[in-house]
Amino acid sequence: MQVTGGLANENRWGDIELSIGKFGQVFPITDEVESSGMTGDFPDAAELEKNFLGARSERVPIRSISPGVFEIKATVIDVVRGNFIFNTCPTCGRKAVVGATGRFECVDHGQVDAVPAMVVTLLADDGTGVLRVTAFRDTAEQMTTTTAGELSRLSVEERYNLISGSVVGKEYIVHGRVKKDNRSGELEMVADSSKSVNASEESERLASLLKMKLG
Ligand SMILES: [Zn+2]
Repeated sequence: MQVTGGLANENRWGDIELSIGKFGQVFPITDEVESSGMTGDFPDAAELEKNFLGARSERVPIRSISPGVFEIKATVIDVVRGNFIFNTCPTCGRKAVVGATGRFECVDHGQVDAVPAMVVTLLADDGTGVLRVTAFRDTAEQMTTTTAGELSRLSVEERYNLISGSVVGKEYIVHGRVKKDNRSGELEMVADSSKSVNASEESERLASLLKMKLG
């Protein structure tokens, strides 16, 4: 069963006792499972590990990378030319496409005033190999220190120049999922987080300085 508005206390025999307050409710878990649309197929240990421990995946050289979740430390050597922005629904953030009426539409929210989001594909080189890394939205903005809003006011060529100037030659630690691209058959990483190596060294340095000061 599931209890809401409950209060756990130690009773006079030293056991934990759960009492239900004025606004508390008890649901049989079967109803809860049904109403939530869950089928009762809970993920197994391997799946949980993949989902939750993936964030601590190992750093690997690009040469030995394979499909999965990894971290790489590499220098950006080039930026793949493209539009760098795409249109999204302001409510759910998913991609909005131009519908029959010529206006942007979201699958769930109908006609919307689309907002721009950023996407960038970079070539990353760690000395053992080169990997295509694609970053979307916040991750892309953070890596390139620009924003989709700023880019949308520029021409495609200006966007390319701005992004190249900002990332080429910079070293990053990038975490993400590596997949095989359907068309090219080559491996590609979709970044879910990244940090500039200089910035992380700087914060480590500051942390150790702070530790010394605090004793
Ligand atoms: Zn939407």
